[in-house]
Amino acid sequence: MRTIRLGKTGIEVPQNAFGALPIQRVTTDEAVSLLRNAYDGGMRFFDTARAYTDSEVKVGIAFEGMRDKVFISSKTQATTRDKFWEDLETSLANLRTDYIDIYQLHCVSRCYDESDDIYQCLVEAKTQGKIRHIGITAHKIGVAEDIVKSGLYETLQFPFSYLATDRDIELVRSCKENDMGFIAMKGLSGGLLTNSRACMAFMNEHDALPIWGIQRQSELDEWLSFFDSDITMTDEIREVIDRDRKELSGDFCRGCGYCMPCTVDITINQCARMSQMIRRAPSQNWLTDRWIDEMMKIEDCIECGICKTRCPYELDIPTLLRKNLADYKEILDGKPV
Ligand code: SF4
Ligand code: SF4
Repeated sequence: MRTIRLGKTGIEVPQNAFGALPIQRVTTDEAVSLLRNAYDGGMRFFDTARAYTDSEVKVGIAFEGMRDKVFISSKTQATTRDKFWEDLETSLANLRTDYIDIYQLHCVSRCYDESDDIYQCLVEAKTQGKIRHIGITAHKIGVAEDIVKSGLYETLQFPFSYLATDRDIELVRSCKENDMGFIAMKGLSGGLLTNSRACMAFMNEHDALPIWGIQRQSELDEWLSFFDSDITMTDEIREVIDRDRKELSGDFCRGCGYCMPCTVDITINQCARMSQMIRRAPSQNWLTDRWIDEMMKIEDCIECGICKTRCPYELDIPTLLRKNLADYKEILDGKPV
């Protein structure tokens, strides 16, 4: 297992970290047990966010009394001074700590600079010692490139998996050149990638810290197993990656859910990628009455376009939904998957 240094933050951790978004969906006891097991298994970096409902609270309970043994990053979606300080105080209280290792602006639509109140707040919070480092997360490549060029942030968090484009890979390289830490979110591309060994072997080739979203002990066990096994790229793994790249090329939905809620209640983050999910997971799971009903809701789309304004990948969601529905109906009619 490689050790990753997150640029000028100087933080050095194993290249196998915990994304604490999914622990919102389990009980506090389950989440705390997962987080402690992750620590016992070797993980040292834990990423959460103010927006992940009770995730920070669970992280806070798990690491109370051992704060100096882990690195914790969190995020704020604040765009005003008041909201920034309110969020930061809430995060500190939730996390039961007096500092956050990396505090990140969450899913920004542009690079905030010294002229922006929100960036000035980050600097003030760092001066006060409430945050140790200034980070940022983005989903759009152009925005991410501006952030790196600005030289104002110590870490960048960006989606990065083995479906990455050459431009994404160049972004990781430019972070390294600028001594900026790169934190890789969506290393499984929103659940589309199922071969964890291939995901790990890909990360091993890049200066990126993956924060795997973990909700179950079985998932955690899979990631922890890589502390003891060889994760180098092989011809066999390269073949898996090449096959998936071919199959999943072009515009596809990562399942992030930022586009929701839909005006007519379509579950966009699943329905817009049904064609992939049904072929990559046991298809019966997606052919239940519930999912048939969910897919048929696509016919109610009124093309209001609201979802499109929220999608960080700028997908043409109504068109994507219709394509998925057409394919799904053919599958219901007997087309083999
Ligand atoms: S365009 Fe369609 S899918 Fe998007 S929010 Fe409107 S109704 Fe929902
Ligand atoms: S359509 Fe876009 S915003 Fe919505 S879930 Fe998919 S990738 Fe995310």
